[in-house]
Amino acid sequence: MEQTVIDPIGVNGRTYRRPNRPAVVICADGCDPRYLEAGIAAGMLPTIAGFRENGFCGLADAAMPTFTNPNNVSIVTGVAPARHGISGNFALDRDTGAEVMMTDPAMLRVPTLLAAMSQAGVSIAAVTAKDKLRRMLGHGVVNSHGGICFSSEFADCCTLAEHGIDKVEALVGRSKPDMYSADLSLFVLDAGIKLVEESRAKLLYLSLSDYVQHGHAPDEPEALDFHRALDQRIARLMELGCVVGVTADHGMNDKALPDGSPHVIFLEDVLNREFGAGAVRVICPITDPFVRHHGALGSFVRVYAKTGIAPAELARAVRGLPGIDQVLDRAAASAEYELPWDREADLVVTGDANTVLGASEAEHDLSELAGHRLRSHGGRGEQRVPFLLSHLLNGEYQDKPKTRLRNFDIFDFALNGVSQ
Ligand SMILES: [Zn+2]
Repeated sequence: MEQTVIDPIGVNGRTYRRPNRPAVVICADGCDPRYLEAGIAAGMLPTIAGFRENGFCGLADAAMPTFTNPNNVSIVTGVAPARHGISGNFALDRDTGAEVMMTDPAMLRVPTLLAAMSQAGVSIAAVTAKDKLRRMLGHGVVNSHGGICFSSEFADCCTLAEHGIDKVEALVGRSKPDMYSADLSLFVLDAGIKLVEESRAKLLYLSLSDYVQHGHAPDEPEALDFHRALDQRIARLMELGCVVGVTADHGMNDKALPDGSPHVIFLEDVLNREFGAGAVRVICPITDPFVRHHGALGSFVRVYAKTGIAPAELARAVRGLPGIDQVLDRAAASAEYELPWDREADLVVTGDANTVLGASEAEHDLSELAGHRLRSHGGRGEQRVPFLLSHLLNGEYQDKPKTRLRNFDIFDFALNGVSQ
C-alpha cells in the first residue's frame, strides 16, 4: 500500500521520502558484477539471486575516476564529482602545491542526503570500513544532529561526542578487525544489523572495503566465501524488515601480464625521461594510507606540467603507449568525466582494463603483492557495478528507463522506488 508522502526531503536537486521502515544502502567496495555472477552460479548467493524475481537486479555506472572516495561521496550526495568536489582519494592542491588526502569535509561542496535526513529528524547511521571516509560521511550527521557515524578500523575508540555511539565492540560482539581482513567489511554489516535490531537507526549507509576483491578473482574461494557472507547479512536485514539497496563504488580487473607481473606504466618516469627531469608531477588519486594490496597503482592518473611544457605535447608522448585508454586535457576531462574543473590537472590519463599507471617507480612498493597478480581499478574498465534492490519497484520506478543508471541513484531507488 502506497502511503501519502507529506514532506519529501530535498537535497542537491533530488527529493527523498522519509523511510517508514528501515532502509539500508550498502556500498560493496570493489564489487565488480562478476563477483556476484560467480557467486550466483555457484549457488552461494540465494538472497541476491532472489532479487531477480522479487526485487531489482541491474547494472549502473560508477563515477569517474572509479575510486573509493569520489564514488562514496557521489552515493551519499546523489550527484557527480563536478558538483560535490571530491575527485580522488588523494590530490594535488592547485593553490598550495601540497599533496593531500581528500578526506576533509571542508572539501565537500554540497551537503549529503544523510545530513539532510538527519536534520529532518530521521535517525541516521553511517558505518564505514576505513576511517578515511568517516568524516565526510558523518558531516552534519553526528554531534548536534544525534546520528551515528564510525569506522570498523577504529571501532575500539568510538565516543558519543565524536561518533554518536560508544562501546561498538560490545555492540557487535567482537573486537575490531584487522585492517587487512575480510572481517573489516563484515564488521560493518554486523554493526548495521545490530543498530537495526536495537532500533537505533532508520536510514543506514554501510560502506565496505575492497580488500578481498583486490586480492582475489571472482571464482576464488576467498571471494566466494566473502560474498556469501554478504548475502547472508542482506538476508538478515530483510528479515528485520529493511529495504536493502546494494551498489559498488567501482569494479575490479586483473592488471597483470601473462607472467604474473603487474602491467604498469610509470608515467612520471616516462615523461621526465622525454621532457627533462622535473618536467611533470604525476599524482595517483588511488593513494590512501593502506596500499599494501595494490601498491597505489590504479588506472587513472593526473599529470601536472611543472616547467611550462604544453599539455598537448605531453599528450602526444602518452598516446600510443600500449595499455593507454584515454588522454584528456583539463577541460575535456572535466567535461567528459563530470569532474570539478578547478581541481583538475593539466592532463588526465587512464589505463585500459588490463593496465595501471604509476608516478615514478621508486614511489610504488610492490613487494607486498608477494606473487599475487595485481587487481585494481580507476578507469572506465571498472565503471560497471551492480545495482540491486531487495524489493520490487513500485509502478513509477518500474517505468523509469534503466539504461543509464548511476550508482549514486541508489538512495533514490531505495527510498522512493519501493512501496514503503
Ligand atoms: Zn573502493
